[in-house]
Amino acid sequence: MPTSVEEPTTTDEATAQHEFDAARMREKYREERDRRLRDDGNEQYVEVKGEFAHFLDDPYAESGFERESLHDEVEVLVIGGGFGGLLAGARLRQAGVEDVRIIDPASDFGGTWYWNRYPGIACDIESYTYLPMLEELDYVPKEKYAFGPEILDHSQAIARKFDLYRDVCFQTRVEDLRWSEEDARWIVTTNRGDRMKAHYVCLATGPLNRPKLPGIAGIEDFEGHTFHASRWDYEYTGGGSDGNLTGLEGKRVGIIGTGATSVQCVPHIGASAEQLYVFQRTPSSIDVKDNPATDPEWKKRLKPGWHQHRMDNFNSLVSGIPQPEDLVNDGWTDLIGKLIVGLREAAGKDQPPTDIEKAIELADFEKMEEIRARVDSIVDNADTAEALKPYYRQFCKRPCFHNEYLDTFNRPNVKLVDTKGKGVERITKRGVIVNGHEYDVDCLIYASGFEVGTDYSRRADLHLYGRSGQTLTDKWSDGVRTLHGMHVRDFPNCFIMSNPQAGFTASYPHLLNEQAKHLAYIIKTGIDKGLRTVEASEAGESGWVEQCIDKARLATDFVENCTPGYYNNEGQMSKRSIQDGFYGGGSIQFFKILEDWRKADEFEGMELG
Ligand code: NDP
Repeated sequence: MPTSVEEPTTTDEATAQHEFDAARMREKYREERDRRLRDDGNEQYVEVKGEFAHFLDDPYAESGFERESLHDEVEVLVIGGGFGGLLAGARLRQAGVEDVRIIDPASDFGGTWYWNRYPGIACDIESYTYLPMLEELDYVPKEKYAFGPEILDHSQAIARKFDLYRDVCFQTRVEDLRWSEEDARWIVTTNRGDRMKAHYVCLATGPLNRPKLPGIAGIEDFEGHTFHASRWDYEYTGGGSDGNLTGLEGKRVGIIGTGATSVQCVPHIGASAEQLYVFQRTPSSIDVKDNPATDPEWKKRLKPGWHQHRMDNFNSLVSGIPQPEDLVNDGWTDLIGKLIVGLREAAGKDQPPTDIEKAIELADFEKMEEIRARVDSIVDNADTAEALKPYYRQFCKRPCFHNEYLDTFNRPNVKLVDTKGKGVERITKRGVIVNGHEYDVDCLIYASGFEVGTDYSRRADLHLYGRSGQTLTDKWSDGVRTLHGMHVRDFPNCFIMSNPQAGFTASYPHLLNEQAKHLAYIIKTGIDKGLRTVEASEAGESGWVEQCIDKARLATDFVENCTPGYYNNEGQMSKRSIQDGFYGGGSIQFFKILEDWRKADEFEGMELG
């Protein structure tokens, strides 16, 4: 590690030096975490409603859309037109279920990629694994990492391929879903006066769908222009997702937040604004992201089954399962490979668990030293460089990959305003106060993320009433309860495509695809057998919840020691947040559980009515 002053001469000295460095680094990480811990945890954020509701307005839809309200019945109603809803629709159609209607508040398909169109938007998970249904659509992305517009186009191509535009309801927000025991149907009402019946409903409302604002004193006082990065205002900034923000010429711009969104858009704002202030609470870790164009020869050589094979290869590598080759070969597979595969190798040598934990921690320190050294090698000003260095373990926060972000801080018109973990002090009518200094800005952009860990129905922006009128919020008042993260007792024929109690994967559409296959199988079986209801049994649900809690314990120590963020419920881990987390056995085990369950064809843990 570069923290050593002199090269140690013997193995014992090297070990002692490592332990010394590790202790020092552990202490530094703890200090940085403690400085950020706050009593209000997740409550620190402002919910986007009431006087802040305009932050949710759709900048891309044409206004004045009207349609007749619907009072009819469909077999399957899917709520959400992002990758979750698209995959559910596509897999249902493939299974032969024709009567599918998708509802979404946006004016087209795309979900995350519909809303997020900020300059520089791209996906830093390799496009050949991230984009779903590539072989079904006979499509190979243009570059290793796709930009937002290509992903949005691909979403809409999936909809066209599976004829999902046929019965879609856009610019429509579901308000209530009520289970009617009498006719075994969901009664769904919307903000457009619809009253539809559905035999089955799928909730595919997304995990990071609801923008949040930082709870900064005076936030309502600002009189300049303002918006959330997930509703980019190109009318004001000019330009497009590839930059060239001509509207920012002569403007002073502030951006709050330095997560994955900010990392991608800051270089473009810096290139166009007269002055840019980047208000930072915690720096992201920024690794390399080279983006070669797709090699036409490689594309020609792809054989049927290549896409699933590549997705599985990526998912195995980032889950720490060694593979004969690394097909993706990027920052994700490299860094997780180093950390987890290192652990497995150590375990193979029959080492005691404490030694294995130490080995991983050292690998983590080394990786993060590499990230910190990269900052020094790019950023000219030593104080700015120091402030941009992340001091926490790699997976405490979402790792970022970008080749221009750090360099942007070498521009004379860009200033990093580091709040040293405390966050912005106050917002005034003219600007932002940090450390007693007021930074005047014409435009203030919130890259402050999305709600995580709040009530599911609040994030989905709907009310779900199950048997006897019980709400899902009540049902989950002591924590999420599901079978396979998808079925909830007393909420028959309802399928939740989300992450609580489901298997985590770095490439989220991979999980959605497995969930879509699963629900398509169940619904098709239900239709073929003429079932009224399919529902989690009491025992099925309890058994899964216990497994989730049990397996989650493995990762709890790690996140508890992390700097606060949405990965650890803003530093306030509790029994409940553990229960509400992912299935701790990992995605590979989770997908296998679902696959074996389908193969067994016994509907174990469910009741069929
Ligand atoms: P994040 O939640 O990751 O970041 C929010 C930022 O706002 C953080 O830097 C946070 O600081 C900061 N913040 C919050 N409150 C304050 C405050 N009071 N004062 C100053 N700063 C504050 O949101 P993003 O939109 O960046 O990303 C959300 C997720 O979307 C990512 O984690 C990722 O999963 C996904 N994404 C993926 C991309 C991809 O390439 N695949 C690209 C973009 C996003 P702190 O860290 O201290 O809390």
